[in-house]
Amino acid sequence: MDRLSILKSAYEILENVTPLRQDCSSLCGQACCIGTKSGDEETGMFLFPGEKELLAGCEAWMSITSVGHIRPDLYLAGCKGSCPRNLRPLSCRVFPLTPYLTENEILLIKMDPRAGQLCPLARETDRSVLHREFVKAVRKASVLLISDPGIRAYIRDLSRMLDDYTSLPWYRLFGGV
Ligand code: SF4
Ligand code: SF4
Repeated sequence: MDRLSILKSAYEILENVTPLRQDCSSLCGQACCIGTKSGDEETGMFLFPGEKELLAGCEAWMSITSVGHIRPDLYLAGCKGSCPRNLRPLSCRVFPLTPYLTENEILLIKMDPRAGQLCPLARETDRSVLHREFVKAVRKASVLLISDPGIRAYIRDLSRMLDDYTSLPWYRLFGGV
């Protein structure tokens, strides 16, 4: 499967699943979407390799900025707090989870440590609060995504970035909240 087909299939797998059975935005006033529209250039969600091309034509509701100082082909997407749901990027689809590759290349599906600042679900130590079908879909999509060597490399780098993040003193003290 080529990268574009992989991304489209991952979008499809994650199209209708949500972190909870019911709408979780009532818990937090949709903090994950509202929190991304601060206008700060460095606020937003990372795009997976190939998503920039997949989302070409979305300029009306989404800005895409290069963050090449972090990784040469990395882009940050910013929105105004609303979007056509069928076009939301992968980072939004899997939130507050994230695919993670261990040093031994084992794929884990983890609570994203960066999510604790926004998402009440991410502050739960027990991941079973999340809807099982959602967790299963994130795993299924992630298995497909790492079949592309470039996306796999991105998830590997992201995992090391998350390791650095969780080793920061303030994270260790406050758990990212
Ligand atoms: S911040 Fe968490 S609880 Fe709130 S809408 Fe987003 S995923 Fe749901
Ligand atoms: S793209 Fe959509 S789902 Fe993602 S943060 Fe913006 S409004 Fe929320």
